Amino acid sequence: MSSITKFVQFGKTHIARGIGRSTELVIDKAKGTYVYAVDGKKYLDLSTGIGVTNTGHCHPTVVKAVQEQAGNLAHGQVNIFFQKPMLELIEGLLPRMPSPKLDTFFFWNSGSEAVEAAIKVARHATKKQNIIVFQGSYHGRTFGTMALTTSKTIYAAGFSPLMPGVHVAPYPYFQQWSAHKADPEKFDADWCGDEALHQLELLLKQRSDPEDTAAILIEPVQGEGGYVVPPKNFLAGLRKICDKHNILLICDEVQSGFGRTGKMFAVEHFNIVPDILVMAKGIASGYPLSAIVSRKEIMDKQPPGSMGGTYSGNAIACAAAKATLQVFDEEKLLDNCNVRSEQFFKGLRSKIPALLPEGVTCDIRGKGLMIGIEFMGVPKGFANNVAAEALNLDTILLTTSIYETLRLIPPLTITEEETNLALERVVASVAAAVE
Ligand code: PMP
Repeated sequence: MSSITKFVQFGKTHIARGIGRSTELVIDKAKGTYVYAVDGKKYLDLSTGIGVTNTGHCHPTVVKAVQEQAGNLAHGQVNIFFQKPMLELIEGLLPRMPSPKLDTFFFWNSGSEAVEAAIKVARHATKKQNIIVFQGSYHGRTFGTMALTTSKTIYAAGFSPLMPGVHVAPYPYFQQWSAHKADPEKFDADWCGDEALHQLELLLKQRSDPEDTAAILIEPVQGEGGYVVPPKNFLAGLRKICDKHNILLICDEVQSGFGRTGKMFAVEHFNIVPDILVMAKGIASGYPLSAIVSRKEIMDKQPPGSMGGTYSGNAIACAAAKATLQVFDEEKLLDNCNVRSEQFFKGLRSKIPALLPEGVTCDIRGKGLMIGIEFMGVPKGFANNVAAEALNLDTILLTTSIYETLRLIPPLTITEEETNLALERVVASVAAAVE
């Protein structure tokens, strides 16, 4: 097999159609902020594999750690051994947790598995069943998480019946809520946060009694739902409601964690501490690893043997995660994330609105390098057209949500020059799609 057409044809024939794909690129190499197609063509990667390679593709420190670990111990099964790379990783994670009370871990491979584990822990620890999630949330596609995901019907359509006991509350998505108000000026973001809290209280009175509600599960910054940052008052209010009703607060930071928003975890922007924190993606720079952390008294309620899995907390993935933390420190990734974030927001806000025709507006939002651009008043498919134009400019740009939204998720290692190039290409792609 040699030509790209042959590769693509082979892939289409032998990889199931259910795995959708936003490009037809065949890649075999990636380094830093770039991925390389098999024909050697170089693409600026503003996707980081959906918020995974936060340290850039194949960071030398991570590569070295993985190579060394592969020669020492690949598989130290968690239900048989304590393995050193996991213990060392926990040592590195502990001081970075949003609170020292979050001190007891479980590890898995994927974000979905970790979310499911959080639900298991919450149900077992509280002896209650119901879970409340938010409109527009994404928590995975496995059987359990499919019931928790509400960002698009495609993730569950045709796969029912879903796990029972899940109820959905509105997420304070100001942009979309205000779009439906006669006078958007009257309805500010705080109003939106208060209203979402009110709706949640109603749900707890009308549908899911606190006595039956084990946990409230939320993405502190919504990912697949549109890169939506909740208003300041919302998460603090949510914490209060959970405390009042003895409900566990689970924060899914699979996408927003590990520096993506400019702090190690997005909850730190809102000064709240969840009862259970879910992590994956950026934790190990591309190696399959996920984790949940909680307080010891919650995590030790499950009897030994009730949790675990063949590859849970794989030794090579743990070594990659440990090296990832080293890169965070050595290269001050959080600082770089915040500086580059400012550069992105300034560039996008000064250039994109000016390109839009009469009647079209946009909301440029996010935190750190989790940046969303939502277009209002555009025809359906506009955001996909922008992404297609970006690909013509050798740039990987993703869309998200049911609304016309782009998401920029560059590595936290991105340089000033690469950021300028990214801005130039995103702006040119919007301009081309507008024409
Ligand atoms: N939670 C969130 C917030 C996510 O963004 C994702 C993945 N996009 C998941 C859970 C599921 O993670 P995984 O695909 O690793 O199962």
